[in-house]
Amino acid sequence: RAKQSVTDSSVRFTPEMEDNTRWRLDVIRALRNDFRAGKLAVWYQPQLSLATGRPCGMEALLRWPGEGSGFVQPPSVFVPLAEYSGLIVEIGEWVLQQAGEAWRAVSAVESGITHIAVNVSIPQFRNGKLAETIAGILGAQRMPPYALELEITESVAMDEPRRVITALKTLREMGVRVAIDDFGTGYSSLGQLQALPIDSLKIDRSFVADIANGRGGSFVETIVALAQKTGLETIAEGVETAEQAGFLRALGCTEAQGFYYAKPMPLDEVLNWLQTFPPRG
Ligand code: C2E
Ligand code: MG
Ligand code: MG
Ligand code: MG
Repeated sequence: RAKQSVTDSSVRFTPEMEDNTRWRLDVIRALRNDFRAGKLAVWYQPQLSLATGRPCGMEALLRWPGEGSGFVQPPSVFVPLAEYSGLIVEIGEWVLQQAGEAWRAVSAVESGITHIAVNVSIPQFRNGKLAETIAGILGAQRMPPYALELEITESVAMDEPRRVITALKTLREMGVRVAIDDFGTGYSSLGQLQALPIDSLKIDRSFVADIANGRGGSFVETIVALAQKTGLETIAEGVETAEQAGFLRALGCTEAQGFYYAKPMPLDEVLNWLQTFPPRG
C-alpha cells in the first residue's frame, strides 16, 4: 500500500482507516451480542481508607471475558466503542444493577465497605433521565443512595454542563456521591470545577506514579491541598508501592486504590479478600 500524506486533502480514507472502521464495527457487534448473551462481567477493586488502612469502598470495573481465561478486549478499547455506539447506556444500567447485588453481598460480610463506585459516561447523561434511572435501580436493588459513588471524568462534566449539573444535583440531593475520575488530566478550569456538585477528586494515576524514589509528587500535593481547602475528599488511583501509600497518607489524602493493595477481582474473590481483614477491635 502506498503511503498517503495526511496533508493531502483529497485523501479522505486510507485503506488502513477503512479496515479500522470495519474492525470497530465488528467489535461493537460482538460486544452487543456478548452483552445480550449475558457474557460481560463486573469485577471490583478495593478502595482503602488511608487513615485506618482498611477497605472502605470498591470500584466496579467492566470485564469482557473470552474463551478460556483471557479477555476479548480490555475496557480501554471496548468502553470507548460502547460509548461511541450508545451501547454504554444499556451496559451502564446493568453495571449499576450489578453494583446493587454486590452491595448486598458485601453488606452481609461486615466488611467496613461503605460505598461502591461506578463509572458513568457521557451518553448516559444525554437523555436527561440518568437521575431517574439511577433512583429506579437503587430502589429495585434496595441499595441506599449513600452507598453509590458515581465516577465521572472532567470531560463528562464539561460535555453539557447544565444537563450534567442538573442531574448531579438531583443525585446528590438523593444522597448519591460523586467523584471526578482521572482528576488533573482534563481541561476544566477551577471556575468550572467549582460549579460542579461533587464530593471527591480521584487523582489520576499518572500523578501518583510521579511519587517515586523520593522525587515528584508535587501535583498530588497540590490536588490534595486544593481538595482540603474546598472541602472535598481525595482518592488516589494506581497506588503501586508502599512509598506512594506512605506519601499519600502523610499528605492527608483520604483514600487509595491500586495494585499495592489489590487488583480488580470477581465478586466472590473480593469477598474472600475482605475476610482477610480482622474485625475492628
Ligand atoms: P478508571 O475508571 O480510571 O479505572 C481505573 C483503571 O486503573 C482500571 O482499569 C484499573 O484496573 C486500573 N488500575 C487500578 N489500579 C492500578 C494500578 O495500581 N496500576 C495500574 N497500572 N492500573 C491500575 P480498567 O479496569 O482496565 O478500566 C479502564 C477504564 O475503563 C476505566 O478507568 C474506566 O474509564 C473504563 N471503565 C471500566 N468499567 C467501566 C464501566 O462500567 N463504565 C464505564 N463508563 N467505564 C468503565
Ligand atoms: Mg471513596
Ligand atoms: Mg473510575
Ligand atoms: Mg481513573
